[in-house]
Amino acid sequence: MQIKFLKSIVENLINKQATPIIDLLIGKKHVNEFLIAKKLGLTINQTRNILYKLSDFGLVSFIRKKDKRKGWYIYFWTLNIFQSLNLLEQNLKEELVKLENQLKERKEKRYYYCKTCSIEVSEEVALLNNFICSECEQVYNLSNNQEVIENLERSIIKLKKDIRLVNLERNIEGEKLEKKKNIKIKKAETERVNLRKKKRLEKIKIAKKLKKSKELKKPKKAVFRKLKKSKNVKKHKEKI
Ligand SMILES: [Zn+2]
Repeated sequence: MQIKFLKSIVENLINKQATPIIDLLIGKKHVNEFLIAKKLGLTINQTRNILYKLSDFGLVSFIRKKDKRKGWYIYFWTLNIFQSLNLLEQNLKEELVKLENQLKERKEKRYYYCKTCSIEVSEEVALLNNFICSECEQVYNLSNNQEVIENLERSIIKLKKDIRLVNLERNIEGEKLEKKKNIKIKKAETERVNLRKKKRLEKIKIAKKLKKSKELKKPKKAVFRKLKKSKNVKKHKEKI
């Protein structure tokens, strides 16, 4: 289901020939653009044009790496499924609004058509032309709105069903992204805690060392002072 939806986005944005790009990108990460071009049977420039257009809408993202031997950059592409489904849902909702407006107009207004030219016009236009076709000068017939209304209603039901399904898929993808994000946050938090612990331990270590070295120095000083004192005492005694 997801693949069908994703392909319909590519078809809307580019064309039907570009839709196999979804098969090449789905479930993978960082796909080499030369591989995509080869599989699509397109030149690298044609392939890049498609990918750039998709990336303008946020549907794909890339990383690039320099080819050390040839000296140019190679792009590696990843499909953003959540963003793609998001865009599709928006498009379908806009389409729904359009169809619902059309349905409303069909229910409220009258339309006229010319059998010969197969052209339909609104009542205002028909009135302006005195109900005579401006192309062939035949009299307009009143359109059968009922048939159009039924078609529109069918399309609206189907569209609403599609929107529900896309929304469901989009939410599933959204939850996956959220989970990934939370894992990243937790990992970063653990790293922060570990770093703090390490720093604290290092401080303690340094403090211990410092204390130890002070303790080592102390007795020396004490001994020195004692020595000095005894010398003084000696000197003093000598003087006496
Ligand atoms: Zn006509």
